[in-house]
Amino acid sequence: MERVYVVDTTLRDGEQSPEISFTPDEKVRFAQQLARLGVDVIDAGYPGLGKDDALAVSLVAQEVRGPVIMALARPEEEEIGAALEALKGAERARIHLYIPVSRIQLRHMLNIGPQEAMERTMKALDMVKNRDVEVEFTLEDAFRADRGFLLEMARAVTDKGVDLINMSDTVGGALPSQIARVISWLKGELGEGAPLLSIHCHDDLGMATANSVAALEAGARQFHATIGGVGTRAGNAALEEVVMALKLWEEDLGLVTEVETQEFYRTVRILTAMTGVMVQPHKAIIGKAAFVHKVESHLMAVVKEKSTFEIVRPEDVGYPRSPMVLSKYSGRLSFEDKLRELGYSLDEERLELAYQRFRELVEKKREIYDEDVVAIVEDVLSRRPGAFILQDFFISSGMGQEPMARVVLLQEGETKEAASKGTGPIDAAFKAIDQITGFTGRLLSYSIKALTEGKDALGEVVLRVRLKGEEVVGRGVATDVVEASIKAYLDAVNKVLEGE
Ligand code: MN
Repeated sequence: MERVYVVDTTLRDGEQSPEISFTPDEKVRFAQQLARLGVDVIDAGYPGLGKDDALAVSLVAQEVRGPVIMALARPEEEEIGAALEALKGAERARIHLYIPVSRIQLRHMLNIGPQEAMERTMKALDMVKNRDVEVEFTLEDAFRADRGFLLEMARAVTDKGVDLINMSDTVGGALPSQIARVISWLKGELGEGAPLLSIHCHDDLGMATANSVAALEAGARQFHATIGGVGTRAGNAALEEVVMALKLWEEDLGLVTEVETQEFYRTVRILTAMTGVMVQPHKAIIGKAAFVHKVESHLMAVVKEKSTFEIVRPEDVGYPRSPMVLSKYSGRLSFEDKLRELGYSLDEERLELAYQRFRELVEKKREIYDEDVVAIVEDVLSRRPGAFILQDFFISSGMGQEPMARVVLLQEGETKEAASKGTGPIDAAFKAIDQITGFTGRLLSYSIKALTEGKDALGEVVLRVRLKGEEVVGRGVATDVVEASIKAYLDAVNKVLEGE
């Protein structure tokens, strides 16, 4: 068996999706879950982008143990400096340098030719030489590059002693057969003792998983992927799909990863609760319907012999066999049990807060599902010092009546109150909040969904808002949709405050 190394890039490429953003604290908590999942490398972010990104990578580097922590940089002194600085404190650190190698991207993105790209690369690799970090070099848009230049670059970075060469299908346009051909050709050309080859695939044609597996079959030994396939444009290869494909065909392929596949369920739950990103019901491995059999004949067969229609067993990816539902009869012990099962460990104070929220919820809702518990815990964990907390609100609206909202907020023990009219009750409530905070938010998107079945389900609001020149995502959960909306808006406001 040969080992395949897994790079999770949910926190970097995933965050390049317009739908997703993490606060530094969320990055740390998600990275801790990735460590439990057993990925080899966490692509934590791009410190060169600004101080928030640098801070997030640096917190991950200091607090997360187990996986290698990786940070991205262009081959420029300033960005390399920022990445190296942010990686201080990591148990094992890796800098990830990249440059396009296709003519089209060199010309139209960087306005340089191959010669200049080579020079920048060589200079950058000299800067990271003798630093105590691993070096991964990405040949961006590799599958649209001239073979001659691709090989020239691969040889040059090999001579400079990089640890890995990552081949990126940056535009997601390649076919599995093409990827396989290029990888096995390159591996042959580089010969013995060459750096490990890695693959980074995008899903613009829906082939990122197939392409990643093809690259591994052809000789790559590392792949980049994200949970649920989130990422730039159409996203990246879905980590859980590639891992499960390798696992299912382990004997044939002779390839293994060290991913704890039973952690997939938890990981996805945490990601969706943190970002509000929705997983389509029929999504492979992690979709809600992925293990549900509706066709009677299939169901009958599965009861007799699971493998008739299940190639992946739900328990292998951490789906609870029979989801334990909590209710008002559940005490503190079963609540704590559930938290452990979902992968949370909270300090005393937060545990108490979460339990109180749980008691409040069972008064309103008969059955408490995992989604509800995750929502409560994520809500409690996202509380920040100095944040505005919703204390009370009052709404009036009706046909032919001008909607009005009064909102009472609490900030560091101080009560603040405002009232406003609006085009609707939610608009009125947001305007009242703006009066209190002094910010004017512009709502860019707004979505609401029920977290579970039933009329008493928790409503989850995810919105994107432009506040003080920043675009932030806010998330709020409550049985009352207006309350959920107000909480989501406050979440966004609090994120902007935290960033100051
Ligand atoms: Mn990418």
